[in-house]
Amino acid sequence: MLTEVEKRVLECIDADEVVRWTQELVRIPSVYRPLTGEGEEQAAAWVRQRFEEMGLVTHWELVAPGRPNVIGILEARVDGPRKTLMFEGHTDVVTEGDPAAWSHGGPFSGALVDGRIYGRGANDMKGGLVAAMCATKAIIRSGVRLKGDILIGALVDEEGAMLGVKHFVERGWAKRVDAAIICEPEENHLCIAQKGVMWARITCSGVMAHGAMPLTGVNPIYPLATLLTKLRELEAAEIARVGRHEFLGQPSITPTIIQSPVSGEPQNNVMPGQARLTLDCRLIPGQSPEDLEAQIRALFDVVKAGEDGRLRFDFEMIESRPPTFIEREHPFVQLLHAAYRDTTGKEPIYGGVPGTTDGTILFARAGVPIVTVGPGDIHIPHHVDEWIGIDELLEATRFYAVAALRFLGVA
Ligand SMILES: [Zn+2]
Repeated sequence: MLTEVEKRVLECIDADEVVRWTQELVRIPSVYRPLTGEGEEQAAAWVRQRFEEMGLVTHWELVAPGRPNVIGILEARVDGPRKTLMFEGHTDVVTEGDPAAWSHGGPFSGALVDGRIYGRGANDMKGGLVAAMCATKAIIRSGVRLKGDILIGALVDEEGAMLGVKHFVERGWAKRVDAAIICEPEENHLCIAQKGVMWARITCSGVMAHGAMPLTGVNPIYPLATLLTKLRELEAAEIARVGRHEFLGQPSITPTIIQSPVSGEPQNNVMPGQARLTLDCRLIPGQSPEDLEAQIRALFDVVKAGEDGRLRFDFEMIESRPPTFIEREHPFVQLLHAAYRDTTGKEPIYGGVPGTTDGTILFARAGVPIVTVGPGDIHIPHHVDEWIGIDELLEATRFYAVAALRFLGVA
């Protein structure tokens, strides 16, 4: 059941504004293009202007040239310690690809057709960011005073190395955050688990030689092949150990690049000195990148045992992000469950995120409890003709407002 105060806040949501703001933000391209230096700056400036108009305490923090995080805080005017709820979004979008492939006026049209807003970023995730902004605006407009703070983070580079959220954590912002809603497109499902990732480069070094006289060198390719078969066994052992996750399925160790020679001209009669393998490992709760790395390194010794003493393996971690998980029984999840049910009249659907999000960094580096829940079809991110449905957008706006009122309390 919604309280009278909650109903009053929901009446203050301006549906036309939710749509208009989403269109405006989609119309500002914010693809990061390293060659030209274009990035999130214009989109971030739009967000900053809205924050300032709403009266939020606004911070503009440059993460890299042309790439600012924008942080807006609705401060509670109460004495003593108070909680902070974060709504997390990112201002960058992925490339539009071939603009000619887009319908409805091109990749950044923000066209409104049959209840959907089209354009790169509409779904991932300018719609979700606008929903958080408009939920906060409704609370302000209603005159209801919160007992805690809403912090909206519009961060850069989620689609890249997640520099924005890493900067946010390094600057100490995450310390004050008690819980975060990651506004990524999940059809408003409550996603309580996210897969982790580990990208690693393994180089096997031997001794280069003439193909006609292989015994004068050490061929790295056979040992690398042996390692590959052992990695497949390791994958099977890890699947057997941690099982299938309810929302994420099973973990994987996937070789994605295999390369030899690593440098120089490949030639039929030259036995290369090096062979290299790149792995894309996806992790589920119960696994960690550190543990997986240790297990892979242990395989190096197993393979080397039967080989020439000059053979060497090197492990290089390219990127590692742990899986995240929050229990259904966690008070934050319970609160969101009830807020969703009371706002929509439906029981929420639980789910998991197959990839990683900025929330992964908040969880792993700062211990912030996170739930990923936002508007937008789960399968449409990064597609041509990306869209978001206005019904889901408004549902998220209403749900976010009630979630904030309940998490922070009304003064
Ligand atoms: Zn996203």
